[in-house]
Amino acid sequence: MNEQVRADEAKYVMQTYKRAEVSFVRGEGALLFDDQGREYIDFLSGISVASVGHCHPEVVHAIHVQAGELLHVSNLFYTAPMVELAKRLSQGSLGGKVFFCNSGTEANECAIKIARKAARARGVEKPEIVSFESDFHGRSYGALSATPGLAANPDFAPMLPGFRSVPFDDAEALRAAVDENTAAVLIEPIQGEAGVFPLSDETLLAARQACDESGALLIFDEIQTGIGRTGSLWAYEQGPVRPDVMTTAKALGGGAAIGACIGNPETGEVLSAGDHGSTFAAGPVAASAALAVLDLVDDAAMLRRIRALGASLMEGLAGVDGVAEVRGRGLMLGVRLEEGVDSAEVNAALLEAGLVANAPRPDTLRFLPPFVLSDDQAERALELIAEVLAGYHPSEPN
Ligand SMILES: *Cc1c(COP(=O)(O)O)cnc(C)c1O
Repeated sequence: MNEQVRADEAKYVMQTYKRAEVSFVRGEGALLFDDQGREYIDFLSGISVASVGHCHPEVVHAIHVQAGELLHVSNLFYTAPMVELAKRLSQGSLGGKVFFCNSGTEANECAIKIARKAARARGVEKPEIVSFESDFHGRSYGALSATPGLAANPDFAPMLPGFRSVPFDDAEALRAAVDENTAAVLIEPIQGEAGVFPLSDETLLAARQACDESGALLIFDEIQTGIGRTGSLWAYEQGPVRPDVMTTAKALGGGAAIGACIGNPETGEVLSAGDHGSTFAAGPVAASAALAVLDLVDDAAMLRRIRALGASLMEGLAGVDGVAEVRGRGLMLGVRLEEGVDSAEVNAALLEAGLVANAPRPDTLRFLPPFVLSDDQAERALELIAEVLAGYHPSEPN
């Protein structure tokens, strides 16, 4: 890659990321191109953001047209794309009002505020938010406090009070943790950053029941699972329960930064003027991009394609030597490798071979390919994965 870019990054960018040794300059559909002209199949979509593919012509067109008309005026005024987007999101999910922001983390901040205010309104003095120990909800202090794995880092103490966690997918522990002081159960229906772990129906039902009995809100973080990723517009549609509040971001803008917290007819009324805000949120360009994304994804044929492609990839991956388990739904896949094989090493070898993915845990690769992936590209990707894994023989010490 370009040496100047590498050197300047090291000198001028805070070193919070360990980047792969590649600099991308162009994307088209499921393909990425680096600054050396090398082509890659993208099985990560910028962490589930470019879900409709890189530079989808409809999204690019929407951004281009809107950028020539109005870029920003703030939320002190009406803008039609923002209002239209709220209507589409509400009608396509929980049916209540929507709050816009610019990222997943911020969407969860809004959900936490709604939960605390609703709990106060019913007389709870020390409202608590319950999550799973391995959940990921973001990195600002509220979202971070609901992300126990990162919240434990003493460098950033103290966290916010009023958060507790239980072991992942432990229905009994969850039930026991929810009482009259619980403001909300905030969970991912399928954990993403942890390595793609779907929550069982039993735990989802337990969460719903515990919330109904205690008056707590059930909040689904669908920041990674939403916008078609699992083969339905929202992951909750394939499960046994509906949340009271839902957060979305990542794929919503097709690459433009936008997040949303969506309420049902009750929870969408909790916040009022002055309670929350955001300067950039759902500006005309981001909102127009999101409307173009919804036009593409909120579509029966597209969702069918995601399910079919996901099923065939799952089957193909399960048959690859070196793969121990495939988890997930739709095009959100976690691949556990055979014992002794380091996923970070394999991931680096995949990149070298021309496949972009990531390794969220030492035994797991995560694949989040764009929905426009062709059958040929899927087949080529499976070949690359098989070729790379053939170089790793966990049973023979090397
Ligand atoms: C990515 C992610 C977030 C944080 O979103 P940002 O846009 O990075 O702030 C929160 N929750 C889940 C489930 C995510 O996958």
